[in-house]
Amino acid sequence: MKHNFSKIFKSTIKNLFPKSMPASFPKSKKEESEFGKSKKGIVACTKCNSISWKGSWWHESDIKPKIKKDKHKEFGLCPACKMIENNEYEGEIVIENVYPNIRTDLINSIKNEGEDGFKKDPEDRVISIEKDDHNSKINVFTTENQLALKIGRKIKKSFNGTMKVIYSKKESVARIHITL
Ligand SMILES: [Zn+2]
Repeated sequence: MKHNFSKIFKSTIKNLFPKSMPASFPKSKKEESEFGKSKKGIVACTKCNSISWKGSWWHESDIKPKIKKDKHKEFGLCPACKMIENNEYEGEIVIENVYPNIRTDLINSIKNEGEDGFKKDPEDRVISIEKDDHNSKINVFTTENQLALKIGRKIKKSFNGTMKVIYSKKESVARIHITL
């Protein structure tokens, strides 16, 4: 089930500090696509140029040498680009009590983790980082719930915060609240 910004969200607090995803946690869209239609042939994303090959999405530069030149190629949107276009997300991080003196470091840390995730997997991306200067809050949206967890853990550790993870039972969305 897709999550949309406008939909009302029902969630359950599963575990305050989970070591891993609960067994019942829904498959991410990326995993779904790996077992879905895109398993056969090659699909090139028209927006980010990532390539679906053998059921997974890759950076074009990583996969080019492995693909035969004459192989039939289709064009479409990869799950991450589709998600961004539809204003959907799989991970949300809300960080509160961000004092002005650490804001730049914190945002850079989020960006670095996002770039790291993207390098490893073209479908793992930070969609947006939203700042609210009035109440020192930062909202981060990601295409992938594990990436959100990774970013959350990094911030918790680096900036000495407390972290609460909320999983949606119905969707593959993870929401992470961090208080500094
Ligand atoms: Zn794409």
